Amino acid sequence: MKVSNRVLKLKPSTTLETAAKAKKLAEKGINVLNLALGEPDFNTPENIQDAAVKAIKSGEASFYTAVSGQKKLIEAVISRTKEDYGIEYEPNQVVVGTGAKFILFILFQALLNEGDEVIIPSPYWVSYGEQVEICDGIPVFVEGIESNHFKVTVEDLEKVTTNKTKAFILNSPCNPTGAIYTPEELEKIGKWAVKHNILIVADDIYGKLVYNGNVFTPIATLSEEIKKQTIVINGVSKSYAMTGWRIGYALGDEKLISQMVKIASQATSNPSAVSQYAAIEALTGNQEQVEKMRLVFEERLNLTYKRLNEIPGVKIDKPQGAFYLYPDISECLELCGYDNVTDWVNDLLEEAHVAVVTGEGFGTSKHIRLSYATDLETLDLAMDQIIAFVNKKQIK
Ligand SMILES: *Cc1c(COP(=O)(O)O)cnc(C)c1O
Repeated sequence: MKVSNRVLKLKPSTTLETAAKAKKLAEKGINVLNLALGEPDFNTPENIQDAAVKAIKSGEASFYTAVSGQKKLIEAVISRTKEDYGIEYEPNQVVVGTGAKFILFILFQALLNEGDEVIIPSPYWVSYGEQVEICDGIPVFVEGIESNHFKVTVEDLEKVTTNKTKAFILNSPCNPTGAIYTPEELEKIGKWAVKHNILIVADDIYGKLVYNGNVFTPIATLSEEIKKQTIVINGVSKSYAMTGWRIGYALGDEKLISQMVKIASQATSNPSAVSQYAAIEALTGNQEQVEKMRLVFEERLNLTYKRLNEIPGVKIDKPQGAFYLYPDISECLELCGYDNVTDWVNDLLEEAHVAVVTGEGFGTSKHIRLSYATDLETLDLAMDQIIAFVNKKQIK
């Protein structure tokens, strides 16, 4: 069977690829320390589980719902956003779908014509560029300076702005760097977007996962003008430990939202009904678990950050949010005798049984991404094994 040109140029997700390799080793009985994970390791909080079970047993979850999500869930999204952000949206400005990843996909489907450009700061979440390409758009990558956590400035953005620029993706807190944009930085970016009429795609999925006194400012909250220029992307996966449930949502311009709903209506129809009931409880129920999980992540970050600095040739500024570390390991590669990061990552997995993700999938060539969405003991042991691996390579 000859497959489409579209799929031939598409890259599979690097993070999922690493996860698959680690799983293969584990199946051979090897104890792999997995720092490649892109999801919380916690079980979904009990109140949320219970709401789902209730919806199944009562029969409420047996049927299709409105494509954009049932009324109660739309209301829950609006009230959660109002409480967290202090800004208001109307029900026709909200769409709920099968995970934030699918929400982004229907956004690009609804937004882009062939040749339209989307500016994506690098390093970036692996799916942005690929999704833009599937939708006939052109990803335009732009890198901020590393000493400023790779955050891009308006000067960086102006250099790549053209009359084809349709959107700009802002991911703060960022996967993979953990960087958070300050209100001042966002203010300037917001004004730039308004001036050029560029849609700000604010992927706020890690907004609740910020540590050590750092604060997340959603760009949509800066002014009415900037809010109008922004589509907020969010979901329950990361903050409520609900990756498997597949519920994400967007809030923004009603015309754009209604076109996204049209695409979803021909692709998935509504997101899973039982997951919608779970998400209503997540967004409107007791929020204590969110804070508990955040505190656990914070402790893990602080330990892993400290231990990473013990590895020869590893450089990193302390991440502020999300649950990843993205160190520059160029000196370490040199010390170990490697000319590229992917080989080093593969050998680390094969020889030291520690799974991390190569920075090449995120757009830089001398970094690795480590996730601390795993227990302290695993993190500590993984650091021991990475140090031993590097020492062994150096001696050779
Ligand atoms: C995990 C993630 C998403 C997607 O989350 P869903 O599980 O699809 O809701 C979107 N953006 C970033 C940056 C992520 O890390």
